Parts: sequence; structure tokens; C-alpha cells
Amino acid sequence: MVHRVTFIPGDGVGPELSEATRRVLEGTGVQFDWDVQEAGADVIDRYGTPLPEPVLESVRSNGVAIKGPLTTPIGTGFRSVNVALRKQLDLYACLRPCKWYKGVRSRYQDVDLVIVRENHEDLYAGIEFEQGSAAAKQVIEFLNGLQDRRIREDSGISIKPISVTGTRRIARFAFDYARAYGRKKVTAVSKANIMKHTDGLFYAVSREVAMEYPEIEYDEYLVDNMCMQLVQKPENFDVLLLPNLYGDILSDLAAGLVGGLGVAPGANLGDQVAVFEATHGSAPKYKGQNKVNPMAMMFSGMLMLRHLNEGGAADRLERALAAVIGEGRSVTYDMKPNRDDPTAVGTSQVADAVIAKLEAAA
Ligand code: NAD
Repeated sequence: MVHRVTFIPGDGVGPELSEATRRVLEGTGVQFDWDVQEAGADVIDRYGTPLPEPVLESVRSNGVAIKGPLTTPIGTGFRSVNVALRKQLDLYACLRPCKWYKGVRSRYQDVDLVIVRENHEDLYAGIEFEQGSAAAKQVIEFLNGLQDRRIREDSGISIKPISVTGTRRIARFAFDYARAYGRKKVTAVSKANIMKHTDGLFYAVSREVAMEYPEIEYDEYLVDNMCMQLVQKPENFDVLLLPNLYGDILSDLAAGLVGGLGVAPGANLGDQVAVFEATHGSAPKYKGQNKVNPMAMMFSGMLMLRHLNEGGAADRLERALAAVIGEGRSVTYDMKPNRDDPTAVGTSQVADAVIAKLEAAA
């Protein structure tokens, strides 16, 4: 079967990483019909926006995309091009598997957990009122009229909406993922003892959803405790289910447990559409240098293969990447014990090494 997939090279280091990733994905033997779509800083002159409509149309119609990072240029009107993409395609779930591979330099070993983060709600909904503005003044007066506690007049305000609908679908996503990938436990994380009507709701709805999946264990941790548990005993956790803000913070923490940005893959998913991308950004200062690590995007490609029901190819790619990491020879500077190591290879040489492993195993 040939998979038609939207391919967004991105900008900054994106095109180099995307090309390396395309080569290893094709090296698995799976057939792709790439629908290449340009977005990002480099297309603004042509389209007047870093996120042209044809890109969105392509992802909607193909249902699956893999993308390189996109720079958010200052002054485009977008708070973030990537957030706009997630909103416009209703990609409500952010998936961040964090797995340690032998050879990756980290303080931890045997970590294998998955972060599921809600993408649209919470303090990141973008409902903000600038300190001193007429709107902030109105909001403060209104809220002061509703309750005894006083909000200072010189406050800025950010609103934190968490809905039953939004929580139910992200919780179902986490449990469906656990079921599909043989995971044993889902842990909801929030601060429900303090924010009873938002984080409390997140727990209550997650608990209800958990009842629909009796074979999967469910538990709850407060986010402060979870931070401590993750640095002490990350091996105790399996799937973590989080609202937007805590999910953002803990996914970086968890990426740090398993080697950092160079190897942290991700995906943003909705009911109809899935977009696979590395966690890191476009690292503009390294653009065009064939220097940075393509493995995070390659691991994102592995997640895409699983999503496309190409589990065998995904396993082969994972083994090939693990072998290259384990040998420690054909890896970029960030994976060497010393960042100035002259034996570090470039982006495209990592792809060559991974493809050689795929071919050797065939
Ligand atoms: P960044 O992730 O691009 O880079 C930060 C630093 O991390 C780099 O200078 C580099 O030292 C290191 N790094 C990043 N990727 C690496 C890799 N593959 N291999 C080795 N080292 C790597 O973060 P930033 O500088 O904050 O953001 C730059 C731009 O990227 C911004 O415009 C931002 O909006 C955008 N961004 C995009 C995405 C996305 O496309 N999903 C995500 C984050 C940031």
C-alpha cells in the first residue's frame, strides 16, 4: 500500500532534518506518495503568511502529515505558527513518548513513559487581559462583584478554562492509546486540591472515562508531587494524562530524563488528522550546516509508521535507530560525550548510518 502523506519540510534546520527523515522512512521499504507543502518563514514573501491555506487543505485531505520545525517570525500576527496549525486542524492531543535508549547520555535508564497533553484549553487558551487595559478593568470589576476576594486593580488577567468536553476527549485519547499500545496504567496529573473547578473537573472526568477501560489501571498525582516522583522514580510511570500547562512543562522534564531535545519525538493528533514532528524548534543558528540531530524527527517518523499501521516497519526503524545510538559512532555532536568531539557526524550521515542498519537487517 502507498501512503499519501503531507510533507512539510519546515524552515531553519527543518529542510535538512526532513530530508534525512524522508530517506530513512523510505529505507524501511514502506511506500509513500509525499505531498510536499511549503510553510514557515521562507514562504511569507510569496503567500503573505507563514501558514498558507493550501498547507492546511493538504493535511485535512491526506489525514497524516510529517513536518519539520517552523519558525514563528516576529510580527506576523501569529503567537506561534505551530499553535495556529494545531488550532486550525483541531489537533487536541499532544503525544510525547519519552523512552531511554542504551547509549543516550542521561542520568536515568529504563525510562519508558508517554505524555498525553491537552492542546487547546487551560491557561494556554489565549484569553488574556493586559494590565491597565479597559478590558482588564472591566473583567476585574465584574469578578470583584461576584465574590468576596479582591483582585488588585493593577493586575493582568489570564483565564483558565477546562471543559468536560475537552477533558473527556483527551482522557479517551490517553486510554485508547494505552489500550492500542499495551500500556498498563494512565496517571492523571493536576493541582485539583487548589483549583477545584478546573483541575478538579479534569480529575472527575478522567475518573469517569477510566471506568470505561477496566483493564487499564488509573491513578492521580498532584503536579508538584509528580515532578518529584519523575526525578526520583520515573520507571514507576506509564501514560501521563495532563492539561495543557502542566503537560507542556512535564513533557520537557520527561524529555530531559531520556536525553533531551535531540531525541524527543512528538505528534499532535485530532479525530481526523495527525501531524508528526519533533519537540524541538527550527534552531535557526544551525541552518544549512548539516549539523543538528535528525533523530527526534526520525523517531517522530517511527510514530507515524505505527499510526499508519506499519508496525513492522516502525519496529525495524526503532531497532536501527537504537543500534546507531548504541554504537555511538555515527551520531551528531549533541550525542557525543564532548560537544567538540571531532568524530561527530552531520545530519545526513546519521541518515546514511540508519539506512545501513535497515539494509543490514533486511
Ligand atoms: P530550538 O529548539 O529551535 O533550539 C534551541 C536549541 O536547542 C538550539 O540552539 C540547539 O542548541 C538545540 N537543538 C534544537 N534542536 C536540536 C537538534 N535537532 N539537534 C541538536 N540540538 C538541537 O528552540 P528556540 O531557539 O526556542 O526556537 C527557535 C524557533 O523555533 C522559534 O521561532 C520557535 O517559535 C520555533 N519552534 C518551533 C517548534 C515547532 O515547529 N514545533 C517548536 C519549538 C520552537
